[in-house]
Amino acid sequence: MPNPTNAGVTIVRGDITEQDVDAVVNAANSSLLGGGGVDGAIHRKGGGDILAECRELRSSSHPDGLPTGQAVATTAGRLPARRVIHTVGPVWAKSEDRSELLASCYRESLRVARESGARTVAFPAISTGVYGWPLDDGARIAVATVREEADDFDEVRFVLFDERSYEIFAAELSGR
Ligand code: ADP
Repeated sequence: MPNPTNAGVTIVRGDITEQDVDAVVNAANSSLLGGGGVDGAIHRKGGGDILAECRELRSSSHPDGLPTGQAVATTAGRLPARRVIHTVGPVWAKSEDRSELLASCYRESLRVARESGARTVAFPAISTGVYGWPLDDGARIAVATVREEADDFDEVRFVLFDERSYEIFAAELSGR
């Protein structure tokens, strides 16, 4: 049954690399070889084991990179989390509705989390940084999609890096 409430869905203002959860989600790019923003912070703090595993995925299952909207898991290296789930958000485009791809990032990340036995998962605001997705729309899609799946987890946490994105996600969660 879809979860119409916020049971198990939480938000904090903070840094995704500091979350002590079973799995943190990385707003990666399709190369899986690192980038800026969340991706840069995860590799910087998590250390080389994560990148080594990403390279391994590139040379085995994902020679052409990870397609937008999909997700894969690796070790979390030195992060407090147990796993990192890498997903590739869509770049915002005014001329094309890519909402389904953004929803797919949340859905697929939770599918991979479930498969790896995670009970607690933390998400950043995928695509709302360098990829340019408007925050209010990004929050709407994130909250609606996560609510549908949250019953399978003890906690699904949104981690917002700055005050403005925190406020927007908080408003979306409280239905304001
Ligand atoms: P994308 O390329 O998918 O847009 P970014 O990493 O550029 O991903 O940004 C996604 C969101 O994550 C932005 O709202 C950004 O402010 C935020 N962010 C950046 N660094 C961190 C961090 N260390 N922890 C949590 N959120 C972060």
